[in-house]
Amino acid sequence: MPPSARRVQRQARGRGGRPKKRVRSVQAWKVHKFGGSSVADAACMERVAKIIENDPAPRKAVVLSACRGVTDALLTLISLAEQGSPALDDRLQELRQRHVGIARELLAGELCDEYIALLDVDCRDIAGILQTVRLVRNASTTMRDLIAGYGEIWSTRLFERLLRRRAAGHVQWLDARKALLVEWGPMGPGVRWEQSRAQLSALVAPEFVGTLVVTGFIATDTQGLQTTLGRNGSDYSASIFGSLLDAAEIVIWTDVDGVLSADPRLVPEAQVIDTLSYNEAMELAYFGAKVIHPATMAPAVQERIPIWIKNTFAADKPGTLIHDRSEPDPLVKGITTIDRIALVNLEGAGMIGVPGTAHRLFGALREEGISVILISQGSSEHSICFAVPEAEAERAERVVRRAFDPELREGQIHSIEIDHGCSILAVVGDGMAGAHGVAAKVFVALGSAGVNVRAIAQGASERNISVVIDGRGSARALRAVHSAFYLSAHTVSIGLIGPGLVGGALLEQIASQMQRLARDFKLDLRVRAIAGSKTMRLAAGAIDLSRWRDEYRAGGDPLDLDQFADHVHADHFPHAVIIDCTASAEVAKHYPHWLSEGIHIVTPNKKANSAAYGDYQRVKDARRTAGSHYLYEATVGAGLPVIQTLRDLRETGDEIRRIEGMFSGTLAYLFNTWDGTQPFSQVVKHAKSLGYTEPDPRDDLSGMDVARKLIILAREMGLQTELAEVKVESLVPAEISDCGVDAFLERLPGFDGAMLQRLQAATGRGNVLRYVGSVDAQGRAEVGLVELPRTHSFANIALTDNIVRFETARYDKNPLIVQGPGAGPAVTAAGVFADLLRVCAYLGAKL
Ligand code: ADP
Ligand code: ASP
Ligand code: MG
Repeated sequence: MPPSARRVQRQARGRGGRPKKRVRSVQAWKVHKFGGSSVADAACMERVAKIIENDPAPRKAVVLSACRGVTDALLTLISLAEQGSPALDDRLQELRQRHVGIARELLAGELCDEYIALLDVDCRDIAGILQTVRLVRNASTTMRDLIAGYGEIWSTRLFERLLRRRAAGHVQWLDARKALLVEWGPMGPGVRWEQSRAQLSALVAPEFVGTLVVTGFIATDTQGLQTTLGRNGSDYSASIFGSLLDAAEIVIWTDVDGVLSADPRLVPEAQVIDTLSYNEAMELAYFGAKVIHPATMAPAVQERIPIWIKNTFAADKPGTLIHDRSEPDPLVKGITTIDRIALVNLEGAGMIGVPGTAHRLFGALREEGISVILISQGSSEHSICFAVPEAEAERAERVVRRAFDPELREGQIHSIEIDHGCSILAVVGDGMAGAHGVAAKVFVALGSAGVNVRAIAQGASERNISVVIDGRGSARALRAVHSAFYLSAHTVSIGLIGPGLVGGALLEQIASQMQRLARDFKLDLRVRAIAGSKTMRLAAGAIDLSRWRDEYRAGGDPLDLDQFADHVHADHFPHAVIIDCTASAEVAKHYPHWLSEGIHIVTPNKKANSAAYGDYQRVKDARRTAGSHYLYEATVGAGLPVIQTLRDLRETGDEIRRIEGMFSGTLAYLFNTWDGTQPFSQVVKHAKSLGYTEPDPRDDLSGMDVARKLIILAREMGLQTELAEVKVESLVPAEISDCGVDAFLERLPGFDGAMLQRLQAATGRGNVLRYVGSVDAQGRAEVGLVELPRTHSFANIALTDNIVRFETARYDKNPLIVQGPGAGPAVTAAGVFADLLRVCAYLGAKL
C-alpha cells in the first residue's frame, strides 16, 4: 500500500519551528516532479505518463520542467534580440517546431489542434516582446522572466493532453502563476505561504481525486507580475507544492538512479546512496550535487516530507530516500566539487583581537549581494579567507577594499589577495561527527594524488569537510577522495614503456591478476598507454590486456614521451604510474620531470640510478619534493628482495660494512656450468641460444652490467660512488671488443686457451671461478673473476641464481644472504609488479 493511501500520522515541525501534531487525511497528496531530461521528447513524455498511471495514489500532483534545453533556448532568444541578431525568428520557429513535432507524435485531432493554436498565440506574444527588446536592445527582468517561463507552460499543456488522450482518470492543468505568490529577497525567492495556500484552495477542489499537472519554475510576484524561481527552480516548485498540498511524499524524477556518491560524469564508479538525512542532502546540494538544489528542499524539509530521487528511465530502481533520520553508516555519504571559485585572502595584524571584523567584512559582501560559499579563519585572527564564485571575484575584491580602506592605508591590513581558478571539494556525511581520522583520510588522499590544499573549513556539526584546491586538480582530487572512502575502486592510470620480454611478461601478469585485485582489494589497474621505441598506443579508457599485442600492433602514434606522460597523468585519474621496462638512458632522462609532476615510476631500468651522481641526485630530489614514488627493486637481482632488504637494514639503524655477490644471472650460469670439458666459447654460445645472455653477450661479459648494479647498491648504502670508480675486470678480450656480434662469436674460440688455463689453475688449488662484485663502506667497488674455495656459499648456486651477501654490524659473523633466480622475464616482471602494488598500497589501496 503506498504511503499516500495510508493514514499517515506523524510528528512534524510547524513553520514557526514548534513541533506540531499533524494528522494527514486518507487522501494524502503525492507530488512527482520530472526534470527537463525526463520530458525531453515524445517518448519521454509517454514514459512519464506510464509512471504516473502506475502510481495508485489517488491524488497526484505532477510538476514538470520545460522540455530539455528549452529554457536555455528561450533565454538565448532574449540575448539574440538584445544583439539585434537576424537569427532570432528562425530560432523561435525551431522552438515552435519542436513542440509541434512532439504534439503531433503524442496527440491527434482536436487535442493536437488546440495545443498548436495555443502555442501559436504564445509564439506571437513572444515575437512581440522580442521585437521590443530588439528595438531597445535591452530586456527588463520582467520580460526575461516572462519569456523564460513559456517552456513549462508548453510542456505541461502537452502532458495534460497526453494524460487525457490516454484516459488516465481526472486531469487538471494548474498554472502555478495563479496559485504561487513569491517575493524576491536577498536570499532568492521567498514564498508568501498564506496567500498561496488560499489561492491554491480556490483552484483545486478539496475533494479532488486525480492528477494535477503543475507548471514548475514559474510564479507571480507581489506586484502581480510573472516571475521565476531561478534556474533549476522546478525542484523548488515541487517542494513548495508538496508543502502547500500537505503531501505525504515527493518524488523527484531525473536521469540518474538517485543521489550518487559523486557526480557520475566525473566519477563513473559513483554509487547510489540509499538514504540521506535532510542535512546531508542539503550539504551535498549546496556543494554542487546538481541533482538536487539546496534552497529548493527547504519547504519539504520544514514539513518533514520524505523526498525520493528516482530515475525516470529505470523506474523500478529503488532510488534515494531523503528524510529526517540520519544513518551514520557509511561515514561519508558523498563527495562533491564546485569549480570556478576564487579564494579571497585578507591578512593583517590589525585584525587580531578586534571584534566585528568578520561582521564588517561579510556585511559589506552581503550588501553587495555577493554570496560567500566558504569561510575559513585561523585562530590567530591574523587572516580571514573566503571563497566566492569566480564571476564575483573582482566585485568582491572591490567591496572588501572599500570596506577596509582605512585599515589598508594605515597598514593594519596589509594585503588582500585573490587566488583564481580554484575549486571546492566537500566531503559530506552525518556519521563523520565524532569519528576519528576522517579528515586525516581526506588529506592523505589529496596529498597522495598531488593535490595542494589552499584552505580548509569544517563546520562545527562535523557533517562536512570542505577544502579549497587548485581547480586544475579537481577531478583528480574528487576521484582520489572518493576511492579513499572505499566508495569506488582505487583507480591507477598506468603507462608502460618497452613491451619487450620483461614488459610483455608484466602485462600478462597484470592481466591475470586484474580481476582478483579489483574484487578483493578494489584496486583498478588501468594500463592506458604502451610505448615502444618508435610508436605508442594511447587508450582513453584502458587497453584490453587480453589482446594488448593486437591493440599495440594495430597502430598508434609516433612516439612522443611528453605526450605519453600527459596522457597517463590525465586529470581525471587520481594516480598515474609509468613503468619503464626499457634499458634506455634516454627514457631515464625524463624521470626527474615526471616525478616532479607527481607521476610515480616503477622500473627495472638501471640507467637512472647508475648515471652520473648529479643526475641520480636530481631523480631523488624530484621524488622527494613532489612526494611521488620511485621504485626499482628489479634493477638488482630481478625479483629478489635485494634493495628492499638493504633499505630495511639501513632504516632500522644497521651499519652496512660490505656487500658482495653474484649479480649477473648470465655469468653465474657460465661459471656454474663450465667444468673445462668443453671450450668456454661454446658455453657462451649455448647460453646465448638458451636466451640467458643479452643479444650481444659482451654486454654481460664486459662486467658493466654488474658494475651498474653495484653502483645502485652503493648509492643505496649512502655512498656517492661513480660508475667510473668501479674496478671492472672485463672478460671480453680487447682485440674483439669492437667488432660485430657475429665476428665476436667467431673469434672468441681463439681466446679459449687463456680462459682454460685460469680454470685449471683454480681447480688445481681445489677452488672454483666465480664472477663477483663487491662494495664496502668506504666506497671501494670491484667487479671481476675471483677464485673461491668449493665450500664458499657462492660456489654452490644453481643455474642463473644471484646471490647477495650483506655484512653488517648486526649480521657480523654470519652475513645475511639473499639468493635465488636473478634473471629471466617472468621473475623480473614479478619484481616490477610487486613494486607496482607497493606504490598502490602507498597510495591508499588496502592490499
Ligand atoms: P533534471 O533535468 O532532471 O532536473 P539535472 O541535470 O538538473 O536533471 O540533474 C541531474 C544530473 O545531475 C545528473 O544527470 C548528473 O549528471 C548530475 N549530478 C551531479 N552530481 C550528482 C550526484 N552527486 N548525484 C547524482 N547526480 C549528480
Ligand atoms: N526549466 C528551468 C531551468 O531549466 C527550471 C528547471 O528545469 O528546473 O532552469
Ligand atoms: Mg534539475
